Amino acid sequence: MSYARRCPTPEETRRAGAELVPCLARGDVVTLVGPLGAGKTTFVQGLARGLGVTERVTSPTFTLVREHRCGPGAPVRVLHHADLYRIESADEALDLALGELVEEDAIAVVEWGELAPVAPGGATLTVTIARGPDDVRLVTVDGPLAAVRADALQRWAGA
Ligand code: ADP
Ligand code: MG
Repeated sequence: MSYARRCPTPEETRRAGAELVPCLARGDVVTLVGPLGAGKTTFVQGLARGLGVTERVTSPTFTLVREHRCGPGAPVRVLHHADLYRIESADEALDLALGELVEEDAIAVVEWGELAPVAPGGATLTVTIARGPDDVRLVTVDGPLAAVRADALQRWAGA
Protein backbone atom coordinates (compact mmCIF):
# COMPACT_ATOMS: atom_id res chain seq x y z
CA MET A 1 0.00 0.00 0.00
CA SER A 2 1.23 3.51 -0.73
CA TYR A 3 0.09 6.95 0.41
CA ALA A 4 0.49 10.15 -1.57
CA ARG A 5 0.21 13.92 -1.28
CA ARG A 6 0.33 16.55 -3.94
CA CYS A 7 2.62 19.42 -2.94
CA PRO A 8 2.39 22.46 -5.24
CA THR A 9 4.90 24.63 -3.33
CA PRO A 10 8.10 24.12 -1.29
CA GLU A 11 6.13 25.03 1.84
CA GLU A 12 3.58 22.30 1.08
CA THR A 13 6.44 19.81 0.72
CA ARG A 14 7.83 20.98 4.08
CA ARG A 15 4.37 20.59 5.61
CA ALA A 16 4.17 17.04 4.23
CA GLY A 17 7.50 16.37 5.98
CA ALA A 18 6.40 17.93 9.27
CA GLU A 19 3.12 16.03 9.24
CA LEU A 20 4.90 12.71 8.69
CA VAL A 21 6.24 12.88 12.26
CA PRO A 22 3.14 11.19 13.82
CA CYS A 23 3.76 8.26 11.45
CA LEU A 24 7.30 7.74 12.79
CA ALA A 25 8.83 6.07 15.82
CA ARG A 26 12.27 5.57 17.36
CA GLY A 27 14.42 3.32 15.18
CA ASP A 28 12.83 4.22 11.87
CA VAL A 29 14.95 4.75 8.78
CA VAL A 30 13.23 6.88 6.15
CA THR A 31 14.66 6.57 2.64
CA LEU A 32 14.16 9.53 0.29
CA VAL A 33 14.10 8.80 -3.42
CA GLY A 34 13.95 11.28 -6.28
CA PRO A 35 16.24 13.09 -8.73
CA LEU A 36 18.41 16.09 -7.95
CA GLY A 37 16.17 19.06 -7.20
CA ALA A 38 13.11 16.88 -6.51
CA GLY A 39 12.69 18.35 -3.04
CA LYS A 40 14.26 15.74 -0.76
CA THR A 41 16.13 18.25 1.38
CA THR A 42 13.06 20.50 1.41
CA PHE A 43 11.03 17.56 2.75
CA VAL A 44 13.67 16.89 5.44
CA GLN A 45 13.50 20.57 6.48
CA GLY A 46 9.81 20.02 7.20
CA LEU A 47 10.42 16.74 8.99
CA ALA A 48 13.03 18.50 11.15
CA ARG A 49 10.56 21.30 11.89
CA GLY A 50 7.99 18.70 12.95
CA LEU A 51 10.59 17.27 15.35
CA GLY A 52 11.34 20.68 16.82
CA VAL A 53 14.84 20.94 15.34
CA THR A 54 15.91 24.60 15.42
CA GLU A 55 19.18 24.33 13.44
CA ARG A 56 19.10 25.03 9.72
CA VAL A 57 18.85 21.82 7.69
CA THR A 58 20.83 21.63 4.43
CA SER A 59 22.16 18.68 2.45
CA PRO A 60 24.99 17.05 4.40
CA THR A 61 26.95 16.70 1.18
CA PHE A 62 30.48 16.68 2.55
CA THR A 63 29.81 14.86 5.81
CA LEU A 64 27.43 12.12 4.56
CA VAL A 65 25.46 12.40 7.80
CA ARG A 66 24.49 15.18 10.17
CA GLU A 67 22.98 14.91 13.60
CA HIS A 68 20.25 17.29 14.76
CA ARG A 69 18.92 17.56 18.28
CA CYS A 70 15.11 17.42 18.38
CA GLY A 71 13.01 19.75 20.50
CA PRO A 72 11.19 18.96 23.74
CA GLY A 73 8.06 16.91 23.15
CA ALA A 74 9.46 15.25 20.01
CA PRO A 75 9.01 11.46 19.85
CA VAL A 76 12.80 11.04 19.61
CA ARG A 77 15.87 12.92 20.80
CA VAL A 78 17.91 12.94 17.58
CA LEU A 79 17.37 13.19 13.82
CA HIS A 80 20.18 11.79 11.67
CA HIS A 81 20.18 13.25 8.16
CA ALA A 82 22.31 11.44 5.59
CA ASP A 83 22.87 12.05 1.88
CA LEU A 84 24.43 9.22 -0.10
CA TYR A 85 24.71 11.14 -3.37
CA ARG A 86 28.50 11.08 -3.28
CA ILE A 87 28.86 7.65 -1.74
CA GLU A 88 31.66 5.61 -3.28
CA SER A 89 30.88 2.13 -2.03
CA ALA A 90 28.19 0.20 -0.20
CA ASP A 91 30.70 -0.33 2.62
CA GLU A 92 30.91 3.41 3.12
CA ALA A 93 27.13 3.47 3.67
CA LEU A 94 27.29 0.57 6.10
CA ASP A 95 30.08 2.36 7.99
CA LEU A 96 27.58 5.08 8.85
CA ALA A 97 25.87 2.40 10.99
CA LEU A 98 22.57 4.25 10.78
CA GLY A 99 20.73 1.08 11.71
CA GLU A 100 22.53 1.10 15.06
CA LEU A 101 22.39 4.85 15.58
CA VAL A 102 18.61 4.93 15.32
CA GLU A 103 18.28 2.41 18.12
CA GLU A 104 19.47 5.12 20.49
CA ASP A 105 16.31 7.22 20.55
CA ALA A 106 16.63 8.50 17.01
CA ILE A 107 15.16 8.53 13.52
CA ALA A 108 17.29 8.57 10.37
CA VAL A 109 16.37 10.09 7.05
CA VAL A 110 18.52 9.22 4.04
CA GLU A 111 18.62 11.15 0.76
CA TRP A 112 19.58 8.93 -2.18
CA GLY A 113 19.01 6.00 0.17
CA GLU A 114 18.40 3.70 -2.79
CA LEU A 115 22.10 3.93 -3.75
CA ALA A 116 23.27 1.73 -0.89
CA PRO A 117 21.76 -0.18 2.01
CA VAL A 118 22.28 1.77 5.23
CA ALA A 119 20.30 -0.37 7.62
CA PRO A 120 20.06 -3.89 6.24
CA GLY A 121 17.07 -5.66 7.68
CA GLY A 122 15.94 -2.45 9.37
CA ALA A 123 12.40 -1.19 9.27
CA THR A 124 12.06 1.43 6.59
CA LEU A 125 9.64 3.83 5.00
CA THR A 126 10.37 5.07 1.51
CA VAL A 127 9.38 8.59 0.49
CA THR A 128 9.49 9.08 -3.27
CA ILE A 129 9.27 12.60 -4.69
CA ALA A 130 8.33 13.04 -8.34
CA ARG A 131 8.16 16.31 -10.24
CA GLY A 132 4.92 17.12 -11.96
CA PRO A 133 3.98 20.03 -14.21
CA ASP A 134 4.98 23.50 -12.95
CA ASP A 135 6.39 23.21 -9.42
CA VAL A 136 4.08 20.42 -8.29
CA ARG A 137 5.64 17.48 -6.47
CA LEU A 138 3.93 14.18 -5.84
CA VAL A 139 5.17 12.77 -2.53
CA THR A 140 4.49 9.04 -2.10
CA VAL A 141 5.16 6.95 1.00
CA ASP A 142 5.50 3.18 0.89
CA GLY A 143 7.94 0.50 2.05
CA PRO A 144 7.88 -2.30 4.63
CA LEU A 145 6.78 -0.03 7.49
CA ALA A 146 3.85 1.48 5.59
CA ALA A 147 1.54 -1.43 6.41
CA VAL A 148 2.38 -1.14 10.12
CA ARG A 149 1.71 2.63 10.14
CA ALA A 150 -1.33 2.44 7.84
CA ASP A 151 -3.73 4.43 10.06
CA ALA A 152 -1.32 7.31 10.63
CA LEU A 153 -0.32 7.36 6.96
CA GLN A 154 -3.94 7.48 5.89
CA ARG A 155 -4.37 10.61 8.04
CA TRP A 156 -1.15 12.03 6.57
CA ALA A 157 -2.41 11.47 3.01
CA GLY A 158 -5.74 13.08 3.79
CA ALA A 159 -4.30 16.16 5.53
P1 ADP B 1 16.89 17.60 -3.53
O1 ADP B 1 17.33 17.51 -2.11
O2 ADP B 1 15.91 16.54 -3.92
O3 ADP B 1 18.02 17.66 -4.49
P2 ADP B 1 16.05 20.28 -2.79
O4 ADP B 1 15.02 20.12 -1.73
O5 ADP B 1 17.43 20.65 -2.37
O6 ADP B 1 16.07 18.95 -3.71
O7 ADP B 1 15.61 21.37 -3.87
C1 ADP B 1 14.33 21.43 -4.40
C2 ADP B 1 14.23 22.76 -5.13
O8 ADP B 1 12.99 22.84 -5.83
C3 ADP B 1 14.27 23.94 -4.18
O9 ADP B 1 14.97 25.00 -4.78
C4 ADP B 1 12.81 24.30 -4.00
O10 ADP B 1 12.60 25.66 -3.67
C5 ADP B 1 12.27 23.98 -5.39
N1 ADP B 1 10.83 23.65 -5.41
C6 ADP B 1 9.90 24.22 -6.20
N2 ADP B 1 8.69 23.71 -5.99
C7 ADP B 1 8.83 22.78 -5.03
C8 ADP B 1 7.90 21.91 -4.36
N3 ADP B 1 6.58 21.89 -4.68
N4 ADP B 1 8.38 21.09 -3.42
C9 ADP B 1 9.71 21.09 -3.13
N5 ADP B 1 10.64 21.89 -3.70
C10 ADP B 1 10.20 22.74 -4.65
MG1 MG C 1 19.22 17.18 -1.20
